[in-house]
Amino acid sequence: MTTLETDVLIVGSGAGGATTAMMLAEAGRRVTVAEEGPWVDPGEVEPFSLAEMVRKYRHQGSSAALGAPPVAYAEGRCVGGSTEINSGLWHRLPGWLTEEWRARDDIDAFGPDVLDHYAALVEGWMSVSLVPGAPPVSSAVLERGAAKLGWRAVEFPRVFRYDTLERGVKQTMARTLIPRAVAAGASVIADCRVLRLLTAGRLVVGARCSRMLPDGTRERVDIRAGTTFVCGGAIHTPALLQRSGIRGRVGHNLKLHPTIKIAARFPHPVDHGEIPMHRISEFAPNLTIGGSASRPGHIALAVADAGADVAAAMADWEHVAVYYAAIRSDAGGRVVAVPGVASPLVTYRLTDGDMSRLARGLVHLGELLLAAGATELWPSIDGAGSAHTLADLAPWWGAVDRTRANLMTVHLTSTVRMGESSAAAADSFGTPRGWTGVQVNDASLLPDAPGVNPQAGVMTIAARNADAWLARN
Ligand SMILES: Cc1cc2nc3c(=O)[nH]c(=O)nc-3n(C[C@H](O)[C@H](O)[C@H](O)COP(=O)(O)OP(=O)(O)OC[C@H]3O[C@@H](n4cnc5c(N)ncnc54)[C@H](O)[C@@H]3O)c2cc1C
Repeated sequence: MTTLETDVLIVGSGAGGATTAMMLAEAGRRVTVAEEGPWVDPGEVEPFSLAEMVRKYRHQGSSAALGAPPVAYAEGRCVGGSTEINSGLWHRLPGWLTEEWRARDDIDAFGPDVLDHYAALVEGWMSVSLVPGAPPVSSAVLERGAAKLGWRAVEFPRVFRYDTLERGVKQTMARTLIPRAVAAGASVIADCRVLRLLTAGRLVVGARCSRMLPDGTRERVDIRAGTTFVCGGAIHTPALLQRSGIRGRVGHNLKLHPTIKIAARFPHPVDHGEIPMHRISEFAPNLTIGGSASRPGHIALAVADAGADVAAAMADWEHVAVYYAAIRSDAGGRVVAVPGVASPLVTYRLTDGDMSRLARGLVHLGELLLAAGATELWPSIDGAGSAHTLADLAPWWGAVDRTRANLMTVHLTSTVRMGESSAAAADSFGTPRGWTGVQVNDASLLPDAPGVNPQAGVMTIAARNADAWLARN
């Protein structure tokens, strides 16, 4: 057993953890980051490849929220967290939404002046930019379909840095804020899972960890800290708090963006290296349409979801790409730590309203892809086969049901909801009710699913909270 001492311990090195680590280290605090996953050199594995799933995803990418239907989800598990595997699409939290949260959840210091300040600060670190030149074909398809139907389409900026030849590199935490934190003196311990927080009464004094050594064996490490920031993401933050005896409303109110997909065949080749940066905002915020990763494995999975002939579809996979419709859901879920099991039990109950929004999303996505010139569509509904015309979409309204819809998500939030209201699990800056020495600072704090890509909001709120902590300490 090894014992370490630090001013601030940060559990998890993703969007929330890296932001916290960098700001506190640059302000002169002694910072230690414990990250369960490995360090993977930026550029070492190909984005959206099988190797990436093995090295950087939790459970190699296969996790599920149980329910009818279940919702498959993905999370990063490596230094940099989910920012290492995400698409880098950047969307500030809409002002009308943060104002709604501020009023409903009674969140202090959450006005537009505060949030705009931190959003601009974070954007300054992250190289938020539009694609130079023409968008890739897979993205132009969305623009073309929207133009034909008279729907609004928007090109989203991404956290990409471009060289003079317009080659882009995604700015993940392992490329940006983690190196800055280390340069300012932070110590990042990879392969170090925090098992539980160490407590004295209702004061958190550090954490007990299991760290992997270079020879593959594990050792126990106790890290004593003045303050512990828990930034393990919306699934593992509440699970760690619960394992440590911090309960209340922790783990209630899981929110996500349920997503349904279509694999679409076009008469022309579609690029497969990029994630489309266009989104259809015609039905926002309750329904968003966009493009997904479309490597051969993703295409095969999407076609298999429809129960169609995978071999036939894959014969010309270069002409096929995967698109999605994602909804803001009325439903909620739970995260519950299970004694003796590393991963918590996750449940999510979609409402009937959610199911009909998903059906509407699927039909609109089908209309858009046909308008863009697609010749064959495979929806992610068991046994649906393929569609070729608008008339073929009519049965989809009834087919998106609780037994046949194959859903997934990559946006998980709200399990340690912040605010001063009785529904909140933590105060306006992330301290769980009734506890000291501990603060949450990740996607768990968002009071609800934002209806937009969450990373910008997670980092904005994390930067606000880190500054507030510095002002008090
Ligand atoms: C495939 C994919 C695509 C996405 N695309 C986008 C996008 O284009 N735009 C966007 O805005 N958002 C996107 N997201 C979502 C975005 O990446 C997340 O919302 C954001 O990273 C959440 O930040 P976080 O700090 O809460 O958690 P994470 O970034 O997931 O970081 C949590 C970290 O904590 C570690 N951890 C957990 N438990 C422990 C423990 N007990 N001990 C030690 N370490 C622990 C994990 O290993 C992980 O590294 C995507 C997500 C995925 C998975």
